[in-house]
Amino acid sequence: MGRITDELWNRIREKRDRYLGILEELLSFPSIAATGEGMDEAPDHVVEVLERVGLRSHLFTDHGGYPVVWGELREERHGTLLIYNHYDVQPPDPLEKWTSPPFKPSIRNGRIYARGACDNKGNLAARLCAIDLLMDVIGEVPLNVKFLIEGEEEIGSPHLSKFFQNHSEILGADACLWEMGGTSPSGRPLIYLGAKGILYLELVASEKRTDLHSSWGAIIRNPAFELIHLLSTMRDRKGRVLIEGFYDDVQMPDKDTLALLDELGDFESELKAIGGEDGLLSNKPSKDLLVDLTLMPCINLCGIVSGYIGQGSKTVLPGSASAKIDVRLVPRMRPEKVLELIQKHVERVSNGRIAVRPLDMGYPAARTHPREPFVELIARTASAAYGVKPLIYPSAAGSGPMYLITDFLKIPCVAAGIGDHLSNIHAPDESISLENYLRGILHIALLTINFVPFLRGGDTPYL
Ligand SMILES: [Zn+2]
Repeated sequence: MGRITDELWNRIREKRDRYLGILEELLSFPSIAATGEGMDEAPDHVVEVLERVGLRSHLFTDHGGYPVVWGELREERHGTLLIYNHYDVQPPDPLEKWTSPPFKPSIRNGRIYARGACDNKGNLAARLCAIDLLMDVIGEVPLNVKFLIEGEEEIGSPHLSKFFQNHSEILGADACLWEMGGTSPSGRPLIYLGAKGILYLELVASEKRTDLHSSWGAIIRNPAFELIHLLSTMRDRKGRVLIEGFYDDVQMPDKDTLALLDELGDFESELKAIGGEDGLLSNKPSKDLLVDLTLMPCINLCGIVSGYIGQGSKTVLPGSASAKIDVRLVPRMRPEKVLELIQKHVERVSNGRIAVRPLDMGYPAARTHPREPFVELIARTASAAYGVKPLIYPSAAGSGPMYLITDFLKIPCVAAGIGDHLSNIHAPDESISLENYLRGILHIALLTINFVPFLRGGDTPYL
């Protein structure tokens, strides 16, 4: 470790109780955007924590939806870092699968368990503690920092673009640090240079009749079969989408982007650990699977319902069937255009009998180029904080409204965080390792103090 990294790390360990306290405070209240539970009080709790570490804060509500919590440290410096997080969490259900109550943080075996521990209150806490740490150790935070903490990320950020339109004057920055990330099973920091976009649809096949005795199935149309036929025309067995024009706008990866995948090494064992020994869609080489996972669009069937699926047997010809699908988008694909292509396909295959209902028009994808200097800065500071080179992904496989940063503000945006492969985000017993949390504080502190020197001359003198 370098001298500054050492000094900051020692101080983090001395202040461990304070930093765990800040984390526990954020984890101790519910803030479930999907149901509204706790959402009246949650923004005020977040403001309290922001002010405790010395940030000026403000609640914005004029975009509609749950408030955006804004925190700022404006010192009129020659560099501004925008930090994006969210204070809403996923519902904790099923509650009986939790070992300890989801909104009573519990520490066991070096991990802290609570809903939001990783996604996303832990990330927010680490970043706030990094500000506290720099104030304490060097007496200042040598740049302007802006925290944008939204309350609707887990329900698709439906009002965030309105917030960006309403408040573009306060959003100016040189770069943005996004909410997610963590470490790989081998302990290397994971950095993501983008996120996919998303579009969410329901397909509904319904006949103008009720359910019938199944003997009629010999001559009367079955909407479940109709729907299954349609779904089988939407992608092949290897996952390639068969809808005409679907890939037309896909931005093909350039050589710098593909070179990042080379650095990630053999990914196959990790993929098999997740999907099962023979659970992969194809036997493509590891690198091609990574291309599909991070750089290509896909269609996924989330659920399908029809007819009788209760106990025992019931012979019935269903009157309706429906399915929900999500479409993950990559840069240059527009959700509206993709919806149109899918509508045309469904119309043609089903002779207009299956309806397409967009449940969430989602948002487009975002990506920051690997040669963007901010990527080099974050790679250097992550190496210093974790003592090992980071794994840099050109994009996360998942989605987030990052396009507002890259397309609307037109600044680079990179994600780094405090999770790991055991974090169970969106699931029972969500957790983070305390070591990862403290390392995360160190990383953000190093990123923050080196930000302005790096922007000016490409140096990272404080490592
Ligand atoms: Zn989430």
